[in-house]
Amino acid sequence: MNKLMKKSLKERLAILSDAAKYDASCASSGTARRHSGASGGLGSTEGSGICHAYAPDGRCISLLKILLTNFCIYDCAYCINRSSSNVERARFSVEEVIWLTLEFYRRNYIEGLFLSSGIIRSSDHTMEEMVRIARELRTTHNFRGYIHLKSIPEASPHLIEEAGLYADRLSLNIELPTDAGITRYAPEKRPDSIRRSMGELRLKIEEMSEPTMQTKRVRRFAPAGQSTQMIVGADGANDATILGTSARLYGSYGLKRVYYSAFSPIPDSSKNLPLIKPPLMREHRLYQADWLYRFYGFEIGEITSARPDGMLDLDLDPKLAWALRHRERFPVDINRAEREMLLRVPGLGTKTVKAIIAARRFSRLRLDDLKRLGVSLRKVQPFITAEGWTPHRLVDRPDLRAMFEPKPEQLSLL
Ligand code: SF4
Repeated sequence: MNKLMKKSLKERLAILSDAAKYDASCASSGTARRHSGASGGLGSTEGSGICHAYAPDGRCISLLKILLTNFCIYDCAYCINRSSSNVERARFSVEEVIWLTLEFYRRNYIEGLFLSSGIIRSSDHTMEEMVRIARELRTTHNFRGYIHLKSIPEASPHLIEEAGLYADRLSLNIELPTDAGITRYAPEKRPDSIRRSMGELRLKIEEMSEPTMQTKRVRRFAPAGQSTQMIVGADGANDATILGTSARLYGSYGLKRVYYSAFSPIPDSSKNLPLIKPPLMREHRLYQADWLYRFYGFEIGEITSARPDGMLDLDLDPKLAWALRHRERFPVDINRAEREMLLRVPGLGTKTVKAIIAARRFSRLRLDDLKRLGVSLRKVQPFITAEGWTPHRLVDRPDLRAMFEPKPEQLSLL
């Protein structure tokens, strides 16, 4: 205890921001801020828990990303902060988190706070402290920045509800894609309870988004919605299972995002866990597949059916891999095709498809027009026809896949 008391705020900031980096719900990218004054001090953004995340409106914002504490009474096998881990421990008081947030905010280092925590004493006790931080920031200090709070598993619904009044986003990590995985690696967590909390939060978000009878105004409640995180590569679940779980979470609980976090082997980990990190490219391919499901009209089965092991192709992005397996659907005439089919053309994103549909009302589009829209002609040419362009039998060439596969020098990414 005395040893704990001796840790300075700066030391605890280093420990608790490092401990927070395993949560992918806010992309953790430490930033070296230019002109940041006393490097390494409390005001410095180097190594002090500043991460970048995307706000719901698409803006990239910087957040103070920390844990309230990395003490935890749970013993989730994949987590560096589990009770049986030998990691150095630290804890902030509620007042310290508020002070740090306000100080960083006033100095323009951050635009908001991402706060998570290990579980101390009980889920409710921990959640109460987190809610108090958000409440005091908003009501006592009139804090207008972004707040993302992690919900603590098993916390009472009234605390989650109160959190939603002050936080922009709430997230509850499901962590593993199958109930069997959760039972095996996070024995104190109950998958049905996590799902129930997500369901209750969805209902509350929907209820509060309705204008009231009296004021006809929508009440503020977690306006950026809820999200979750799944760890990839810890429990042996394949990509088809992971993406199937994501699809159910999006459909059943209206999640705004599912984040994928490649498992990192941790010190003294359970012998049931793998000793190697999955390739980062796997995480990237899952994000691409998730995007295809949410914005491009693909079913999960269409994306994951290529390989018998249910894994995505690491060499090719999932849309290109799908197109190569379904060459009979191409070429697509960019001057006539429906939006749904244009979205399936490798190299055409949602914004480009929108621009193509708008532009082709006035003239027939040529390859040069696509180039002006920023399209990679190398990628789209085999799959489209345009004014003055037909790929002939390019799309049927047996070596077409090889033309898109990464070169040996790019393989270090995989
Ligand atoms: S409850 Fe959270 S912090 Fe505690 S061991 Fe499990 S994952 Fe880690």
